[in-house]
Amino acid sequence: MNFKWIRLLLMKNYKPKGRLSAKQYIDGILKGDRVLLSRAITIIESNLESDKILAKEIVQNILPNAGNSIRIGITGVPGVGKSTFIEAFGKYLITQGKRVAILSIDPSSQRSKGSILGDKTRMEELANLQEAYIRPSASGDTLGGVANKTGETMLLCEAAGYDVVLIETVGVGQSETAVHGMTDFFLLLMLSGAGDELQGIKKGIMEMADMVVINKADGDNIRMSEMARLQYQNALHIFPQSESGWSPVVSTASAIKNIGISNVWDEVLKFKHLVDENGYFEKNRNHQQIQWMYNNINEELKRLFYGSKNIADELKNLEADIVTSKISPVKAAQKIIEEFKKSI
Ligand code: GDP
Repeated sequence: MNFKWIRLLLMKNYKPKGRLSAKQYIDGILKGDRVLLSRAITIIESNLESDKILAKEIVQNILPNAGNSIRIGITGVPGVGKSTFIEAFGKYLITQGKRVAILSIDPSSQRSKGSILGDKTRMEELANLQEAYIRPSASGDTLGGVANKTGETMLLCEAAGYDVVLIETVGVGQSETAVHGMTDFFLLLMLSGAGDELQGIKKGIMEMADMVVINKADGDNIRMSEMARLQYQNALHIFPQSESGWSPVVSTASAIKNIGISNVWDEVLKFKHLVDENGYFEKNRNHQQIQWMYNNINEELKRLFYGSKNIADELKNLEADIVTSKISPVKAAQKIIEEFKKSI
């Protein structure tokens, strides 16, 4: 047996010190114990085999107590004021008797250790409140992996009694789609005075938004923000009506001056009322759950396929054959899939 296998075997049986039983975590989470909640999330984020087993057991058992929050996705380019907004919004929600969990999906935490969302000290005041729970972004090799961890963390937070979950991401890539796929209401923060292109916001992201908030509507910026609000409101009308039956709204806010914050919550509540009445809320949640399973199947299949040494070797040969026109790309793909099917 070579060293790699010995190490893998040790990893499989390795159980970090201080781990409790699944029941202890579950009981703690259901009682709203923040320390045990955090420790359980650490297990969800761990890549150790023993932790993966423990994590599955915890998530499976808290499932009946999860799902009772309003899940809000928040996106916008770096500097738009996401953390300032979430701090103001979170504090407002707490005055409304809510308990708020704040999670993030940070695409920069994949592969590189860099982090757009997590590094600075953010939301300090909110972090000190008992009714708020802030968890920095999980890291991982794939967006799918990170989204899994955040999704399961969300379920744990709900089981621990947080009734609003805010999931933040940076509006520059694929991560918004992941956040949109796990939330009920999608909020896009924008700035006035910069075109969509300048802000790097793609049309697809605008299309996902249930609400656009033009932030930094204060001081000299108030008039520009109002103009931007009208422009975006007109732009959103062009998009086809969403299946939810909700027409996206555009408003202005100043996160730093605490203006227009309560209005955002009012809109979320209006949305919730509408989608509860017309059945979309449940339909969408069900759809998201099923989609979550398929995303995992797709990822696992890819991992199985590309992780196989034989397949990797054969792919190299096929690549060479394609560039020398010995085989067509379509035939090459078929050939390797046939070989893969034989191996399973
Ligand atoms: P993030 O990168 O999207 O999380 O943005 P931050 O919340 O860190 O804010 C970026 C900068 O914009 C900071 O200097 C904030 O103080 C400032 N900022 C955030 N919200 C507002 C606002 O409503 N008005 C003004 N004038 N500045 C703001």
